[in-house]
Amino acid sequence: MTPFDYVIVGAGPAGCVLANRLSGDPGVNVLLVEAGDLDTNPLIAMPRGFNELLGDPTTAWHYPTRPFGPTRRVEHWVRGKTLGGSSSVNGLVYNRGHRVDYDALERLGNPGWGWDEMLPVFKKLENNELGASDVRGAGGPLHVSTVDGTDPLLEDVIAAGTELGWRRMRDLNETDEERIGYAMATIRDGQRWSAANAFLHPVMDRPNLTVALRTVVDRVVLAGDRAVGVQGRQYGQGTEALATREVILATGSIATPRILQLSGIGPADVLRSAGVDVAVDRPNVGARMREHRVFMMQFRLAEDLGYNKLLSTEAGQRAAEDEYQTTRRGPLAAPLSDIVGFFKTRPDLDRPDAQIQIAPFSILPLEPGKSLQIEREPGMLCLGYILRPDSEGSIHVTSADPDTPLDIDANYLATEHDRTVSVDVFRAMRRLFATGPLAKRIERETVPGPGVQADQEIIDAGLTLGTPGYHAIGTCAMGPDDDDVVDPRLRVRGVTNLRVVDASVLPIMVAGNLNGPVSALAWRAADLILEEGGA
Ligand SMILES: Cc1cc2nc3c(=O)[nH]c(=O)nc-3n(C[C@H](O)[C@H](O)[C@H](O)COP(=O)(O)OP(=O)(O)OC[C@H]3O[C@@H](n4cnc5c(N)ncnc54)[C@H](O)[C@@H]3O)c2cc1C
Repeated sequence: MTPFDYVIVGAGPAGCVLANRLSGDPGVNVLLVEAGDLDTNPLIAMPRGFNELLGDPTTAWHYPTRPFGPTRRVEHWVRGKTLGGSSSVNGLVYNRGHRVDYDALERLGNPGWGWDEMLPVFKKLENNELGASDVRGAGGPLHVSTVDGTDPLLEDVIAAGTELGWRRMRDLNETDEERIGYAMATIRDGQRWSAANAFLHPVMDRPNLTVALRTVVDRVVLAGDRAVGVQGRQYGQGTEALATREVILATGSIATPRILQLSGIGPADVLRSAGVDVAVDRPNVGARMREHRVFMMQFRLAEDLGYNKLLSTEAGQRAAEDEYQTTRRGPLAAPLSDIVGFFKTRPDLDRPDAQIQIAPFSILPLEPGKSLQIEREPGMLCLGYILRPDSEGSIHVTSADPDTPLDIDANYLATEHDRTVSVDVFRAMRRLFATGPLAKRIERETVPGPGVQADQEIIDAGLTLGTPGYHAIGTCAMGPDDDDVVDPRLRVRGVTNLRVVDASVLPIMVAGNLNGPVSALAWRAADLILEEGGA
């Protein structure tokens, strides 16, 4: 088989950006390997179509966690499995993260990742409908817009937020202050604008870019301490691809540590007990995982507002779909949450430490691996989480068989910081819904319900009724020390010609939703790779 210069594994935001940038040089041959198929399912383009996609194993991976919390709940961590990866099935909220967090990343010993370097990258990436400014980009490949909701409830939410002192913003990424407004979203003309739309489809016909679909990579092929290719299965048959310059893993924070561990790169004790030969003992592969625990609240509305009535029946759903197909507007044209806010849980803090996302519909209790079901009675949904959790979980293989489920220890809310701040976030969510014009719309709190008052009751409700943030990071974290999995140029320590470029390399949260930050991270990684020009 003819070797490629670069083999990139995973066509999520990171993989799509890398494929675009690295194949920009016609003299370089690039292979992009993706386990999923083409992103032609029409539900991908429809912003609120993601619900069905997440329940469908052909478009989403389902990774069960260890049981946790008072009810020993097992939840399924879902990820996108198609071109665009999770950006093809996600909630579409466009967030960049806060300046201080990038600066903190740099201060941890990662030169070049501070805000002064990353802001120009974001500006290059963006095509923001609000136009270019000191802090926004226009003309870039990633389309970003705001979708102003039409339901009167949404203006009441924003009014309540402003009464609490949060600034109403047209562009929520313009400042790091306490703020609230309509979500910025990766939506273009009413359609999802995934990383595949932004970075991959425009270059798919380059002769030096090959995209291998429905190809699951199981292992990196090593020759001594050098990565020389990948091994996996295409349409169920064994397959291999060779890389002369680099193998780049961009399979996300769950699959990337799995592939490394199956290749013998990971914690020796974990590998041995899984029956995997140890090639390089790297204790932190799969460790140091941080994930948001999302607290969920729901409210019954006093009037028949919001989307429940429409979206809870088949006839209503058909009407909403017709409206969407003919106008590209309506409830199905919006991101997961119409409203996003960032706020401080204590006034003396120097920056927001919490995020909320609000939508004018409510859902029935979640079932692992199933799509969301809308309630019949009118309701609202509010999700809230601390921006910078410091509890650390882990992801480990349990067998050398790549199809055996992973051991995912979410280890949510394990630190005093995470528990205390989460309780404060929850109380602030309640306060918001008891404020100003919004309070008048609410008949009662249905989830978790007014009986939940004490700190421990709130924590238990978060563990029992909440969701993951779908933002796990840190499982292959970058850093300057020998025990950091990748160095600040994202090269895997202990193996040459092997890099990790995806959400797993972030050692700390950069505040909020991660599609934008991971795309920018990959853009900068491409600069580093191009600078080096191969091994
Ligand atoms: C349900 C959900 C909602 C979200 N909502 C938002 C949101 O509203 N806003 C936001 O900014 N972010 C959101 N996110 C997070 C955001 O989408 C991710 O952080 C981002 O996509 C991570 O990019 P990635 O490239 O690291 O990984 P991914 O996007 O997960 O991409 C990894 C790719 O690798 C492929 N892959 C995995 N294993 C293999 C293998 N063994 N062989 C070959 N290919 C493989 C996958 O199929 C996938 O295409 C959400 C995520 C989810 C899952």
